[in-house]
Amino acid sequence: MLCGFRKKDSQKVFASFSEKAHGPFSCISCGNDLTLKKGRIKIHHFSHKPPNKCSHGAGESEVHRKCKISVYNSLLKSPNITNLDVEVNFGIVIADIYCVINNIPVAIEIQRSNLTVNEITQRTEAYHKLGIYVLWLGLYNEKLSELKYSAKAWEKWCHAVYFGRVYYWTHDSTVVPIHFGQYQHYVDDTSWYDENGQEQSAGGYYKSSKRYKTPCLGRELNIASDFNPTQKQPWNGGSVYVPQCSILSDRAPKWWV
Ligand SMILES: [Zn+2]
Repeated sequence: MLCGFRKKDSQKVFASFSEKAHGPFSCISCGNDLTLKKGRIKIHHFSHKPPNKCSHGAGESEVHRKCKISVYNSLLKSPNITNLDVEVNFGIVIADIYCVINNIPVAIEIQRSNLTVNEITQRTEAYHKLGIYVLWLGLYNEKLSELKYSAKAWEKWCHAVYFGRVYYWTHDSTVVPIHFGQYQHYVDDTSWYDENGQEQSAGGYYKSSKRYKTPCLGRELNIASDFNPTQKQPWNGGSVYVPQCSILSDRAPKWWV
């Protein structure tokens, strides 16, 4: 996590602006003691002292922290954004980034590997109850530029929620929307002779894969200016359940066939 409570004056502070001498620091969620991590390479952050069972900050990777600080620093420069903060505790949920964009309250959530679809659904419901619009972001990776991609459960969920697109953070407050199209795999042409000596053949055509999708990249979007608030009704698509939710989605027309 990037922030902690400085105990002596109960201020929420960034690890990057803190020194060990300013401590002790405690977690904004569980209140337990934190260790300040200020190395030369990694982004300055706090972590729980073991043993700990608190979920705040759990599963955060270096790239997750990089995304969080980078989006925050970039949104700081946007004139249409107010109330910007990171790691905001709303009681039922802690937002990675919270801000008000053109008078619309927004939570930006960055996907981390240990979050299940159930947890994502619960957090999305929590934001709806709070009247906050949520934007889920994945972290862009090279595999998304390949033709054949195996989408994870959370990506399928986001795809269903965000009108056939998943948003991936690339840099600053820039995200790229990706639609998962059909992946066509070739069924080999084979032939054989049946019991009557007749030649039979099969295959030799393309078939849509159930397991793989082809990522179709849209044009880059800016979180500060390219998104609109949208209310969604609950929807059940068999393997994907979408609760009633308030989301932030883009207004770009479909770019895929
Ligand atoms: Zn904690």
